[in-house]
Amino acid sequence: MTDLLIRRVNVLQLRDERASILADHDIGISGNRINAIEPTGTIDPSGAKKVIDADGQAALPGFINSHAHVAMVLWRGMGEDVNLETWFNDYIWQLEANLEPEDVYWGMQLGLLEMIEAGITAVSDHYWHMDYAARGVEKAGTRALLSQAMFGANGLGQIDETAGFAQRWDGAAGGRIRTILGPHAPYTCDDEFLRASAKKADEIGSGIHIHVAETREQTRASLSRRGQTPIEVLNVCGIFEVPTILAHALGATPSDHEILADAQAPVGIAHCPKTYAKLAMGFNNLVELRALGIAVGLGTDGAVSNNTLDLWEAMRLTALGQKQVTGDAENLTIAQALTIATQESARVYGQAEDLGDIAPGKLADIILVDLSGTHHFPLNSVTASLVYNARAGDVRTVICDGQIIMREREHLTLDKDEIMANISPRMERLRRRENTGNIQTYNP
Ligand SMILES: [Zn+2]
Repeated sequence: MTDLLIRRVNVLQLRDERASILADHDIGISGNRINAIEPTGTIDPSGAKKVIDADGQAALPGFINSHAHVAMVLWRGMGEDVNLETWFNDYIWQLEANLEPEDVYWGMQLGLLEMIEAGITAVSDHYWHMDYAARGVEKAGTRALLSQAMFGANGLGQIDETAGFAQRWDGAAGGRIRTILGPHAPYTCDDEFLRASAKKADEIGSGIHIHVAETREQTRASLSRRGQTPIEVLNVCGIFEVPTILAHALGATPSDHEILADAQAPVGIAHCPKTYAKLAMGFNNLVELRALGIAVGLGTDGAVSNNTLDLWEAMRLTALGQKQVTGDAENLTIAQALTIATQESARVYGQAEDLGDIAPGKLADIILVDLSGTHHFPLNSVTASLVYNARAGDVRTVICDGQIIMREREHLTLDKDEIMANISPRMERLRRRENTGNIQTYNP
C-alpha cells in the first residue's frame, strides 16, 4: 500500500562518493518508510492515497544539522565582528543569563521554521531547558537528537538531572526524538565531571555531544596547562567509549586524529564552516580526517555566530573551504560535499541505517527542490547546481517520517504568525546585556 507517491522527480543517488540522478522517477512511501523508487509510469498512481507531482524538481534526503543551539536564533545579529573571547564573555554568556524556559519553546519553533524552509529535517541540538525544545520538535514533525547543556561549575547533580531528561524523551514522538548527554566542553567541565558524564551515558545507553578543540589556541592552552590536548583529555576521561558527536575539533592534532580513528565507539565531527569563517577560527582539513574514516557532518552551530540555520550555505562553504585549506581545487568534490551533507551527517547523527539516503527501506525524510530558477538556468549539471547554486528558498516541499510538513512553501505543522507574535514581546528582556550576570567565563 502506498500512502504517498512523489511523481516525475529527479532523485539524487550517492554511492561510493559518486553522485548520479535518477531522472523522471516516482518515489513510493508506505507509513514512514520509502518502499519503491521506479521510473515514472511503473507505479500506478491510482493506488496511492496522496500524490505529489514534482515535475522537474530534485528529491534529496532531508538535511541533518549535526550541531546547533537552535533557540539562539532569538539573538541573531548580536555579537557581530568580534573575536571568540569577546563573543562569549560580552555577548553569549551575558545574554543567556536572561533566558527563560518558554523562550526556548518559541525560539526552538522559530529555528525549526527556518530549518524546515531550508530542507533540514533533523537537528542535533545542544542547549538549555530542553523539555521546552522537545515540545517544539513534537509540534514541528521533524527529528531531533536533544542534549541538555551542562557546565561543570553547576555541579555533578546536573548529570542525573539531564540523564532524567534524556530518559524521559528518548524515543518520543514516534521515535522522531532521541537524546544524548551534553557536557559543554573540556574547558568548562573538569575531568571528574567528564568521567561522570561518560559513565552515566554508558549506564543509560546514551552518548555524548560536546564542543572540543574549537580553535588551535584551545589546544595550545590545554597542552601548556596540563600537557594534554583537549581530545586527549576526552579520551582519558572515557568519552570515546560511548558514541560521541564532537563539535568543531578544529584544533585536533595528527595524533588526536589517530585517537578518533581508533575510538571504540562511533565518533563524528560536526563541521560548521560559516561560524568558523565569521569568528576567524580557521578550517580543519576534512580530506585528512575522511581519509582516516572519521565521519564528518554539517552543522550550523547557533545563529549568533552563524546568523542562519541553512545547510546549503554550510555545504557550499565546506567545499570552498577545503579547496583553500588543501590548496587543491580537486578537493572537495561535488559528490563528496553532497555525501557529507547527507549520508555522513546521518552517520554523525547516529542513524546511518535509516537516514541520509533515498532508497527502499529508509525512513521517508525527503525534500523536493525546485531547479527552475534563473540561477540554475541552463541546468547543465544538477549536482553542481545543488552544491553551488541552490538556496534555501528553492526547497518547495519537505517530508519527514512520511508526513508532509511543508507543501509548496506552506507550513503544515508550525504557525509562523503565532511564533513571531510570541517572540516579539520577549525581545526587550532578551536583548539586555549585564556584565554582572555572565553564566560562564571563556578562559580556555
Ligand atoms: Zn556550538
